[in-house]
Amino acid sequence: MSAALQYCAMPLTRHTDKCRDPSWLKQQLASDAATVVVLWAQQNMIRLVDDNPQPVYLPISEAALILGNAKEVIYLGHQDQSPVFAADLAYLDEKEAVRILHHAAPGTTMMELRQISSVLDPETASLFAYARGLAYWHQQNTFCSRCGGEMRSQQGGHCRCCSQCEKELFPRIDPAVIMLIECKSSKDGVTRCLLGRSTKWEKKVYSTLAGYVDTGESLEQAVIREVQEEAGLKVSSNPVYVASQPWPFPGSVMLGFRAQTLDSAIQVDNDELSDARWFSRDQLQSIIDDTDNEEGLLLPSKDSIARMLIDTWIAEGGQDEAN
Ligand SMILES: [Zn+2]
Repeated sequence: MSAALQYCAMPLTRHTDKCRDPSWLKQQLASDAATVVVLWAQQNMIRLVDDNPQPVYLPISEAALILGNAKEVIYLGHQDQSPVFAADLAYLDEKEAVRILHHAAPGTTMMELRQISSVLDPETASLFAYARGLAYWHQQNTFCSRCGGEMRSQQGGHCRCCSQCEKELFPRIDPAVIMLIECKSSKDGVTRCLLGRSTKWEKKVYSTLAGYVDTGESLEQAVIREVQEEAGLKVSSNPVYVASQPWPFPGSVMLGFRAQTLDSAIQVDNDELSDARWFSRDQLQSIIDDTDNEEGLLLPSKDSIARMLIDTWIAEGGQDEAN
């Protein structure tokens, strides 16, 4: 199921075991087949062709200026026989970054991945997401949390090591659970799902509830706690794992679940959600079709696991009715 999710079609072989060998990494960077994807300010470099974003894999022979100005150069992996690197122009101001791009790769520009992922091929969207996540991790770990010393990239960008105390740090992601909660009404027999609107969203987007996994907590416990905290509902079934999705926006993996509740009386935590409601499959289909949708409600973007959980649930409707 996860193969259909955006950002899950990674085309690279990572060769993590070889990244400890500096001479091997040096060989890859010197390979004529090597290419470079470029990042700046958590945006990915693309080329607009007739207003359509096209991915840019810069040949290594054309990347000297970019590599010379990059804060980090990260080995991402091999696509077939070609080593692929990411170069992050982090810490350059916009004017300087634009100047370098103009000289190194004329006609290119930087764009936020989530704005363009729907028109990129799934492999590129996955690779760009991976590069973005690693670049962010480097930016967030400039200094050692133990002694305050400067952290330096090692192992092709897959480790950072303190220049003073030699503490090693490896790329970390924050696990977050995301769950579609169902409730079958005892009044009309209709099964509905719970969607909430985050206080952070200006648009009227209603999505599945989600939250970070706490220390000392299983994924299932996190699902139960988040539903209780955000909507005041008691989960009545064991949460069932559905699928996962890398979510480097900026540094998570989303772990999708399905669970049920017998309790339909929502009590919204207004620190997290401005609203939460029960939606029938027909109501959600009306939002998608934008018919009978006077409030102008929206569902989450199609690149998200939230949308996959919702779409999968809607598609099960015929089966549910038959039962
Ligand atoms: Zn240190």
